[in-house]
Amino acid sequence: MDGVVTAEDSRYVRIEVPEEPSRERISDFREVLRSYTREEAMLEAERCLQCALPFCVEACPITQDCRGYIGLVAEGRFDEAASLTLRENPLATTLCKVCYHYCEDACVMKGRGVPIAIRHLKRAALEFGTSDLEYVPSAPRAQRVAVVGAGPAGLMAAWELGLRGYPVTVFEGQSAIGGQAGAIPRYRMPNHELLVDLQRFRNFDFTFVEGKTAGVDFTVESLLEQGYRAVLLTIGASKAGYPGIPGENLPGVLPALDFLYDVNQGRAVVLGRKIVVVGGGDVAVDAVRTSRRISPGAHVTMAYRRTRGESPAGEEEIRETEPEGIEFRWLLSPRAILGTSRVEGMEFQRMELGAPDASGRRAVRPVEGAIDTIECDTVILAIGEKADLTGLPAALGLKIGHKGWPEGGRTGYETDVEGVFATGGRSVVHAMAAGTKAAEAIDAYLCRKEGRTPQPRPDPFGGRDPPPAVPEGYSAPAWKP
Ligand SMILES: Cc1cc2nc3c(=O)[nH]c(=O)nc-3n(C[C@H](O)[C@H](O)[C@H](O)COP(=O)(O)OP(=O)(O)OC[C@H]3O[C@@H](n4cnc5c(N)ncnc54)[C@H](O)[C@@H]3O)c2cc1C
Ligand code: SF4
Ligand code: SF4
Repeated sequence: MDGVVTAEDSRYVRIEVPEEPSRERISDFREVLRSYTREEAMLEAERCLQCALPFCVEACPITQDCRGYIGLVAEGRFDEAASLTLRENPLATTLCKVCYHYCEDACVMKGRGVPIAIRHLKRAALEFGTSDLEYVPSAPRAQRVAVVGAGPAGLMAAWELGLRGYPVTVFEGQSAIGGQAGAIPRYRMPNHELLVDLQRFRNFDFTFVEGKTAGVDFTVESLLEQGYRAVLLTIGASKAGYPGIPGENLPGVLPALDFLYDVNQGRAVVLGRKIVVVGGGDVAVDAVRTSRRISPGAHVTMAYRRTRGESPAGEEEIRETEPEGIEFRWLLSPRAILGTSRVEGMEFQRMELGAPDASGRRAVRPVEGAIDTIECDTVILAIGEKADLTGLPAALGLKIGHKGWPEGGRTGYETDVEGVFATGGRSVVHAMAAGTKAAEAIDAYLCRKEGRTPQPRPDPFGGRDPPPAVPEGYSAPAWKP
């Protein structure tokens, strides 16, 4: 019976996530992905097998009970789905647009067809259910906590501490809250989603101090002297990385993070007509897509030293980028930026794949004598960021995480200075998970000081009983910090 779709087959086909047509969407920053309708969301949710062992939940760094909200969406119970989502995910409006959906990679339906659109169903839950809820803090505590850095790790830690009744002051060096999430382009997150999330924090005893930088305007020691009983550093990786090649300081060379942040802040950024973005991660992909939008008609190339299969950018991000008219050049390693008074071109060493290394990833090696030159007037560097530790005391003994953020080396991310903790994460949801761990360690530390026993996270909506820590059938987290 060729060509006949049976009920069983249709389980393996995803209800398509609607997208803006590529030709039109590159003319502005309109959101690329559109919402499901209620009916589409319910149909997609009905595909979920409601597995007894929820691999999807185990793969989620914050243990979001996605199986639970999908089941509620399938029954059209959107209010309950929204409330369940927000119960353990205070940045859900943000994550339903930008999470790299580790849950979907683990979904059993991936092996049989296409995984359930778990992230997009989170969006449906929040859009069709009542999501303007407010979190309810526990009885106030006297011990004040300072959080330095208002990215996802700091905000999640503040939420955990606020729920337990602690007054929290969040110090942020920039003039806006959000950290690197503030650089995520508007075609993916157009509506100040993070501020929508923060509205639900309105009952907490929180103070946000923007435009104040640790190590410049104040010190960690001064916070302890002012009476903060614990300090959490969640300062991320805000300093652009440079490849260390000739010409990298020429006018026309921009670090991707600053470029994307400036565009989001509405600052005027002028690019040339031939733009090369160097790097292969999600930030590089955002830089090429943003360049395409702010410089109509320009030729935009993304050059990466490995192949597409090995690029750290998500498959979904590359797939969405392909129809937007970008040239991808794989196996090119930067060698020099050419030009006298400004950028005129870029020279690359051509690479080839070698044998797999210890991690199983195929190494790359130069092809002798193979040098490629690309003519260009703008180079955007997206080769990673690192933490700016200026003014932070060496006594903290900070370690650098694998994407550049600093963290404390002791249990619960405590540093070598008592009462000072530090953490961060490689994605929004990983940073949030790290924020939870650090907040639990801070709570345990402060409870110890007062002879109290630390309690699990209370019901965020003020109910009497704490919600279950993990859903039924959950065995162990599938990810490592
Ligand atoms: C362009 C771009 C796109 C991205 N897209 C995605 C995505 O789609 N999905 C996803 O999951 N992740 C994405 N990420 C990654 C994600 O944003 C980060 O992993 C996450 O924000 C890290 O959170 P954090 O709280 O550890 O650090 P950060 O977000 O970096 O926050 C640290 C904060 O500390 C502040 N700070 C630094 N030093 C000081 C100081 N000395 N004093 C006071 N404040 C200080 C910084 O200004 C910043 O606000 C993207 C990143 C970028 C750059
Ligand atoms: S937060 Fe991210 S990883 Fe977790 S369930 Fe939602 S989309 Fe999946
Ligand atoms: S693994 Fe996939 S099919 Fe199973 S419960 Fe999770 S979302 Fe549903």
